[in-house]
Amino acid sequence: MLSQYFENPILATYYYPRPSWGQEQIAQDLKVFSECDLRAVWLFYDPFYDIDDSEGLRYLLDSADAVGLQVVPVLGQFTQLQDDLKIVNVDGTTSDDPRYWNMGCFRKPRLLNLAIERAARFLKEFGTHSSLYRIDDKPVMSFVHEAYYRNSVPEFGGDEMKPNCYCDDCRAAFKDYLKKHGMSDELSPPVDTSDPILWQHWINFHAESIPLFLKNLIAAAKAVMPLWATHECNDFYPASWQSVYTGNDWWEMGAVLDFGHEDMYPLEFDNRYQCYVYNYAKDIMKSALGFQGLITANGQAFNSWLGYQLPSNSMSEQIYSALGHGALGLVWWTELPSLSADDEAKRYHMIRQTKQVNRLYLDLVKRLSGYTPASAEIALLYSWTTMAQSLNDEHTYDTLLVYMLLTQSGYPVDIVSEKQVSNGILAERHYKAVFALGCSALPSIVQEQLTAFAENGGILFVDYAPYMNDAFQPLFPDWRNYTKKSLRTYEITHELPVTVQLAAAALIPPEDAEVFAYFNDKSAAIFRTSFGHGAVFMIGSYIGWDYSNYPGNYDLAKMFPFYIRRDYALREYLVQLLTQEGIC
Ligand SMILES: [Zn+2]
Repeated sequence: MLSQYFENPILATYYYPRPSWGQEQIAQDLKVFSECDLRAVWLFYDPFYDIDDSEGLRYLLDSADAVGLQVVPVLGQFTQLQDDLKIVNVDGTTSDDPRYWNMGCFRKPRLLNLAIERAARFLKEFGTHSSLYRIDDKPVMSFVHEAYYRNSVPEFGGDEMKPNCYCDDCRAAFKDYLKKHGMSDELSPPVDTSDPILWQHWINFHAESIPLFLKNLIAAAKAVMPLWATHECNDFYPASWQSVYTGNDWWEMGAVLDFGHEDMYPLEFDNRYQCYVYNYAKDIMKSALGFQGLITANGQAFNSWLGYQLPSNSMSEQIYSALGHGALGLVWWTELPSLSADDEAKRYHMIRQTKQVNRLYLDLVKRLSGYTPASAEIALLYSWTTMAQSLNDEHTYDTLLVYMLLTQSGYPVDIVSEKQVSNGILAERHYKAVFALGCSALPSIVQEQLTAFAENGGILFVDYAPYMNDAFQPLFPDWRNYTKKSLRTYEITHELPVTVQLAAAALIPPEDAEVFAYFNDKSAAIFRTSFGHGAVFMIGSYIGWDYSNYPGNYDLAKMFPFYIRRDYALREYLVQLLTQEGIC
């Protein structure tokens, strides 16, 4: 598949023209993109079909061809707020705020038909157009920009996200799901976590909605002509429990795509530059594609809409980050539509800044031909069940912050899903150490696989995890004592105190365990115990949260320690534990 790829990799900018801009403006935009040494545009073509303007679209494709730009057609969020398609929330309201950019419920047959119609029309009209970007003679097409179920924006001061979708189509499909899983189809969709097992089924079912939609849409498009299919996986959701409500399980989504593509930016929601989340998203995408095949990233060539400026070295950092984490394609988002079309300098200010790194990127991709990313000896477990049961970010950030710790220490790290673990990936990929952090709710099969990993010689790291319910438990509940309320610090090497930032439980080490650290009340805080041919390290506190409070920029942490906290001694300590186990 990738034989010719390295000579003509994906290096593009998103382009979302309005037919009302006029042909002259469109031709000018394309000329500037070409001057920036971009190879392609990822084109949102919907606005042309909104007004039935195939000729306008043809003009655009011809103009791209004329300046040597290739085109990847992107089916955008082409519809919103149609009454019969709306998402129904747990309280019976529908998700009506246009800021949420919902296309509607992905279980709606009419939404699927509309999407198929749009995709098929493009392929029938332009599938053989010479401007289309192709790999091995097949065009690449992206299906839907950011598919999700959203009913609030807590990050911008909105209420908490609510469970969804309770529309008639989801209710009917849930009955089928229950039958398939050997349960009574008389059960109603749950509205809260009071029945943990039914709730988990409901959330798992919800996570199938978008992948099923994409799978059907892609199959219909491929029936028109063979192509490579991708989808722009949504924003910051790998690092947030909100995924369980938005229906964004990247592993489920990756399973129906030919290429991985994601939409994470370093300055997405914050003035603090979050390159570790940017990297994390790529490593998750890579994992979601089964550690094979192409993954591509988005680049940020716009200043934050919250007013924050992109740091001057950001574009360079982004391309090295993307490549370092296996993304061999890059698509910039830039800020054309928000700026006046009359002001040439302003309109192209950001995209012009990509020129130098575009050249560098093309050169670096070419050099990477024949190489594969270093294989990771360490895996981090991403627990969908914990997110669904806890409805908070204690697990997600514990994991992300340890990811930051490990990558800062030079370790390549894989992030693996519960399903991958259940299917035996820990043995398949020969990990030496696995971290299951803040995992308060794990399905029993995942628990069995994790303990089998240690029994077979692996090193398993487990840290604090609150007790949620009997149905889904944390690992090793007998080693945890939740009754102690006064745990504030624990001491690692040389009597260095580490502050318990969030929560901790005293440990009850098994007899042969070696205790490495104690809490302020002298109870065990960290121990190692042999486990079959391997070992388990147990940590009584959330080690990721204790290490840092933010996956942000290294320099910023040095400049503003009150803003971004890092415990460098704890990082060195963890690296030392790994090194002693031969993982360096
Ligand atoms: Zn629905």
